[in-house]
This record gives sequence, structure tokens and C-alpha cells, in this order.
Amino acid sequence: MEENKLLEVRNLKKFFPINRGFFNRKVGEVKAVNGVDFSIYQGETLGLVGESGCGKTTLGRAILRAVEPTSGQVLFRTGEGKVVDVTKAEDRQLKKIRKDMQLIFQDPYSSLNPRMTVKDLVGEPLLVNKIARGKGLQQKIIELIEQVDLRPEYMDRYPHAFSGGQRQRIGIARVLSLNPRFIVCDEAVSALDVSIQAQIINLLQELQQKYKLTYLFIAHDLSLVKYLCDRIIVMYLGKIVEIADSEQLFTQTRHPYTEALLSAVPRVDPKRKSSKIILKGEVPSPINPPAGCYFHPRCNYVQEKCRREEPLFRNVGQEGEEHYVSCHWAEQLGPKEVM
Ligand code: SF4
Repeated sequence: MEENKLLEVRNLKKFFPINRGFFNRKVGEVKAVNGVDFSIYQGETLGLVGESGCGKTTLGRAILRAVEPTSGQVLFRTGEGKVVDVTKAEDRQLKKIRKDMQLIFQDPYSSLNPRMTVKDLVGEPLLVNKIARGKGLQQKIIELIEQVDLRPEYMDRYPHAFSGGQRQRIGIARVLSLNPRFIVCDEAVSALDVSIQAQIINLLQELQQKYKLTYLFIAHDLSLVKYLCDRIIVMYLGKIVEIADSEQLFTQTRHPYTEALLSAVPRVDPKRKSSKIILKGEVPSPINPPAGCYFHPRCNYVQEKCRREEPLFRNVGQEGEEHYVSCHWAEQLGPKEVM
């Protein structure tokens, strides 16, 4: 793995078995993540977008081994510079890696124990991981609470006494307590009001600069992802269909699914006409995905080959650029400026 990479995901799969009948026999599988490859560079914010049910949350969790991957590799560069395959790490090693790789949830309320005060919630990871205790613990808790712009006077209160944005700050303080280097933000601001979203985004950006953090930012708000992320991954039915630099994804869109997804984003400039692409039908089932290109039943550019052959995921970027796409006709269709 190259020096500038923090993480490399290779052919990662996560299938959930479907068991039925008296003997609880396996009758099928939900192919939530179906063979994905990508890298995350040190210090970047990588966006991960797609319709709900496309597998983005499962992918985020499989990387952290919060759900056990079915197969594939997740190579992670530790603080000491060693490359470890997270999928194969044994308990002791995994415990160490987990301090480095953290998750911010969409709904901080359900992830915070309602019977614990803010002090206990922020202090818990410090105690469990033997990072601080006694007076040092108290001091560290205060520092963390101040770092997420909460007032230490409130640290004896319970989560229900806080607003959604404040609860997300408590969640971030908990995550920060372990000094992580990589954070998966799973729809971390989706449940918040727009003004509060902006505050949390600013906080995440400040923390990234201060601690040189690397983010995988899972979201469905494309305008937000465009603003925040250096590069963006687009997922469809458990597979990655396009990866590109943020600006490039919006101005030189290559995949027909990305084109449709971006066309649905409301325009800020009233002079620019919006031409929303309406996709045919529903997203197919991940239990029985279509043959060939998974997107073919809904694609406006479908041809015979698309129904038979799965497209190669390849770099179509200009010299030195990385713009990966999985469409047989990416070169012929050419780049499109959707936004
Ligand atoms: Fe559409 Fe064919 Fe490209 Fe798939 S391979 S996105 S069906 S044109």
C-alpha cells in the first residue's frame, strides 16, 4: 500500500444470509456490499453517496468490522506505520486498531445511554481503555467537552436535557477521547436542522485540521458532500459505480446513475435550468441483482452488452487523474456537467 494511503479496501463483500423453515436453512443472501475496491488518502474527506439501501452504511461498518465482512481485505496503516488487514486482525490487535478507527452515528440519542451523564459518557471510553483516571480523567473530560464547544457546567446533565446538535457534540467528544485517526461519519448531520448541520460540519472541519483526521463521510445530501469532501464515491446496489474528485464528479460526470442522482439536486443558480432525470422502475433487490450491469434495467443508455456483461471498474481520468467508473460506454458517452 502506498505511503500516502491510510486505508485500502480490496474486493470487500458483506452478504447477510436469509434463513427460513423449520431447520432454519439458508435460502438466499442479501448482497449488501458486493465486491468494492477503493483507497482513502491520509487527511482527506471521502464522501460516500447513493440511494438508501445501496449498502453505504453496511460498507462503513464492514470497514470498521462493526459488522463482520464476508470476504475481502481492509488494509489500514496504523500510527506506527504498519499495514494491518482489519478483517483478519485478532482480538487484541483489533482492540488497538479500534481506537484509531471510530464511528459517528446519525442518531446520537440512540447511541448515548440515557442513564449516563455527559461526564460519564465522555469519560467511559477513557476509563475502559485505561487512557486516564482520577484527577487526570476529570481534566481530560473537561478538555474534550470544551473542544466540542459544550460548557463543562452541563456535564452532570443527562442526554435528554440537550438539543440534537448538542447530543451530536457529546457523541463527537466520546469519539475524540480515543485520539482516532480515521472516523466514519454515518449520516452524522442528516437528522439535524440546516443551521445546526452547518455548526457540526464546521466543528468536524476544525477537528480535522487540528488532529489531521481522515473522514469517510456517508450522506445522501449531495450539495453537502460537494462542499465538504475531497473525493466522492457513488454506490448502487452494493457496488461502486464511480469515484472521482469532488469537483470533477459534478462537472465531468461519467456514470449514467451518477448523472441521474446529481440531476435531482436543486439548483442554487435560478438561471440554470434543472433537467431532472427520471429513472425507470425501482431499485432491484440486492437478494437477486440483475445480470450484467446492475444498473441496466433503469439506465437510459442501455445496450445489449449491458444486459450480459458486467462492466469493468476502470480509470477513465485524464493523465494523472483518478476517475474510476463502471460503465461499458463511459468513453463513448463522454463527461457531462450535471451541476
Ligand atoms: Fe448504463 Fe450500460 Fe453503462 Fe450500465 S453499462 S450504466 S446499463 S450504459
